[in-house]
Amino acid sequence: MAKKLSVIGIGPGSREMMTVGALDALEKSTVIVGYHVYVDLVKDSYPNKRLITTPMKKESERCVLALQEAASGEDVAFVCSGDAGVYGMAGLVYEVAKDYPGVEIEIIPGITAACSGAAVLGAPLIHDFVLISLSDLLTPWEKIEKRLKCAAEGDFGIVLYNPSSHKRADYLQKACDILLKTLPEDRLCGTVRSIGREGETAKLYTLKELRDTAVDMFTTVFIGNSETREINGKMVTPRGYAAERETQ
Ligand code: SAH
Repeated sequence: MAKKLSVIGIGPGSREMMTVGALDALEKSTVIVGYHVYVDLVKDSYPNKRLITTPMKKESERCVLALQEAASGEDVAFVCSGDAGVYGMAGLVYEVAKDYPGVEIEIIPGITAACSGAAVLGAPLIHDFVLISLSDLLTPWEKIEKRLKCAAEGDFGIVLYNPSSHKRADYLQKACDILLKTLPEDRLCGTVRSIGREGETAKLYTLKELRDTAVDMFTTVFIGNSETREINGKMVTPRGYAAERETQ
């Protein structure tokens, strides 16, 4: 009899940043499926579970494997980093699951890199913000450029996911050049690398400095809005006029 497929956001990497729901689903599972980097993050806590890992760019295959296991009667924990619904596998699972009507699917939310990274930097988001992935594997670059331009014009806080890779080494630079057409050079920015993992590092920059900074795919980039300030080394967006009025 088909069992359950739990699509689990495991957060940025450390066990403390996993939800109780995620831990429960992993505990109940008989098989753990995922990209090998994410399975590696959890496997030591579950020595008796069967593990199935797949390399990057084999996303559909990973979904089919997970669904096949569930259809054959296993309780499957399908692990994704951060939140499975933010540049994760939750959508693809539902698309592929059309062919597996007997499998019950549950999406278990996790802490996305924007939230865990913001906590490392201080409080950069607070108000309206947008997430933009710089990966043009699934989105045409022209669309990414337009979104960057609109986000800058809208004075949003901006969080950049997938800011770089070997093939896209200059994408952050290209993105900053677009933002610099609207935003001032001294706009406060921050990067956080390996959030919740060994070697976590955070740094603050101006937008001009960020443009000339090399980052990798384990980094999330934050661009403040016009109110964002550095306070004692932290990146802080003030709560705003309404909060000021309340405290007067
Ligand atoms: N589903 C994930 C995002 C996957 S896209 C989430 O919700 O967080 C992959 C991108 O997410 C990376 O290139 C990086 O920009 C960001 N990211 C994910 N985990 C991270 C971590 N532990 N530290 C820094 N950035 C991370």
